[in-house]
Amino acid sequence: MTTFSFDTIGIVHSCFKEKFAIPRQSGLAPAATAVLELLEPFAKKEAVLELESVSHIWLQFVFHQSIDRAWTARVRPPRLGGNKKMAVFATRSPVRPNPIGLSVVKLDGIDYSDGVKLHLSGIDLLDGTPVLDIKPYLPYVDVVKGAVNDLAASKPEIVPVGFSEQAEGVCKVYEQEKNIKLRDLIIQVLQQDPRPQYQQIDPQRSYGMRLYDLDVRWRYLDLGSCQIEVYEIEQFGS
Ligand code: SAM
Repeated sequence: MTTFSFDTIGIVHSCFKEKFAIPRQSGLAPAATAVLELLEPFAKKEAVLELESVSHIWLQFVFHQSIDRAWTARVRPPRLGGNKKMAVFATRSPVRPNPIGLSVVKLDGIDYSDGVKLHLSGIDLLDGTPVLDIKPYLPYVDVVKGAVNDLAASKPEIVPVGFSEQAEGVCKVYEQEKNIKLRDLIIQVLQQDPRPQYQQIDPQRSYGMRLYDLDVRWRYLDLGSCQIEVYEIEQFGS
């Protein structure tokens, strides 16, 4: 077996501070932002300059928080409720023989004021993710007409998301003072229903995720169909 070694070309500074609730694919939460900071010796304007004409890029990255998990030939995709096993190579599971991920993300701009920083959105990447390569999205080949995947034929169903007064208030402050579209981000993330699908809806149970420096807490309302209420948003650790 041949072994290769690659350099990390950059690190992702993401709004997602923990794995739980990160969208299962890029593009599902357009308000999810990150900065990809290129590392030396790759932090060169000449290495990215023409990317300014490109709206979307492919990122190849390391699932650095799954690296210690041994791969298995059959995995349980969360999308299938965690009950059904599938061939690892038929899934996008982070636990695979080489824990390398592939995401297409929006390139919102490049900042050269302090090193080289790519502003991204629509990401599905954890804070601290090491990036191995960047490639431009090529619509004339990357959009494949007539492509079929019967294993994941459509986007998952959307769950309605509501906010308490306290949570609405925090979202407003973040929008006005920090220019962060927190409300949109929370809706886009939670409407995918990040709860492990084998868990029954329990209105007593509280769930949480870390976004930016915030602890976002929600519960499920069982009103005939599943609904989510974001009941509290606090500074992380307060
Ligand atoms: N779009 C990529 C792909 O297809 O290779 C990633 C898909 S993977 C199913 C997305 C999940 O990977 C996220 O929901 C998050 O839980 C997890 N994830 C994201 N960044 C990670 C990292 N650096 N280490 C481990 N897991 C990560």
